[in-house]
Amino acid sequence: MQVNAAPGPTAEEQVQFLGKLERLFSEGQFVATYKYALLVALADLAIQHGSDDYSDLDLPVSSIAEQFIGLYWRQCAPYGAAVADGAYSTLRQNTGQQASIISIVSSLREQSGTLVLAKQSSAWPTAVSETARLIKTMPLWRLQVLRNETLDFLYAESPTPGCIRLKSGVAANLRRFHGMVIRLAQSEWLHFIQRLPSNTPLLGATSDLGQFLFGADRSALIRMAEPLANFQSGLCLYCQRAVRAGEIDHFVPWSRYPRDLAHNLVIAHKECNRQKSDLLACETHLDRWLRRNADYGDVIGEAAERLNILVDLPTAVSVARWAYSHGENLHSPAWLRGDVVEPLTGRWRSLLYA
Ligand SMILES: [Zn+2]
Repeated sequence: MQVNAAPGPTAEEQVQFLGKLERLFSEGQFVATYKYALLVALADLAIQHGSDDYSDLDLPVSSIAEQFIGLYWRQCAPYGAAVADGAYSTLRQNTGQQASIISIVSSLREQSGTLVLAKQSSAWPTAVSETARLIKTMPLWRLQVLRNETLDFLYAESPTPGCIRLKSGVAANLRRFHGMVIRLAQSEWLHFIQRLPSNTPLLGATSDLGQFLFGADRSALIRMAEPLANFQSGLCLYCQRAVRAGEIDHFVPWSRYPRDLAHNLVIAHKECNRQKSDLLACETHLDRWLRRNADYGDVIGEAAERLNILVDLPTAVSVARWAYSHGENLHSPAWLRGDVVEPLTGRWRSLLYA
């Protein structure tokens, strides 16, 4: 991870990157949802392991497979109450037969119940290698093939066995445009599922498809409120006043990183949460968030695991490093209280790289 800002892709290179990405979506052929999942997985892995300069990045296909299983996990739950025990109770993800990832993930779900337990189970390595094989035969070498042209700007085979190599500057661009890439892939993914005729009886009049596919499990988050309030001594993380009927807030805002990571969750007043909105919290709050995780990281993890919320403190820290580095580059104001914001001073760097 780069600490001092090394030069990254120029404005012109960024525009070219976005143009090519747009062509993958508009000119690529989509017979299953795998390509969307692949793009989301690459963008997430770029946040976790990439840097903002021109570095290339080797990614093991097995890491992509683990991301895949996580992405499809919630989507394998039965959808819609009306046909809950019918043959179509899982949303179709493929124009032909149901996508193979669904059977891999469904059987993991049956055996383990929660993703956290699945990861600890003896079935996990097999599921990951089956998924990796699927990724190699299905989306990996097709994503960059358009109707009449190959547009292999994202990655190529790596000399390292079992890996692909993101090309120079690609990780940086995926980090810079993470929110945009995720939103684009998710909205195309959602439309693909809506268009499949076999999903029509399931979808019916329900309008919560986006929430079902990609949203947070609100009920689990709500149940995190009590343990989090305990670990924060009953205080709002931001204003440090007592909080009774607080809300769960994503410290790095959901709009910037739409994933639920246990250690990114904090308890805050409804009003503080609303005022912070999708701004980054200022460095004083960042310091407090880091100290809370240093003191209570283990117990927060234990409480979250019981609720099937993803526990990965190193990733939560990587995400914060990425978010503050981008906030600084874009001169984003950081929220202090009420409608008071302040610029980032660079202190975030010493806090997050301590
Ligand atoms: Zn507050």
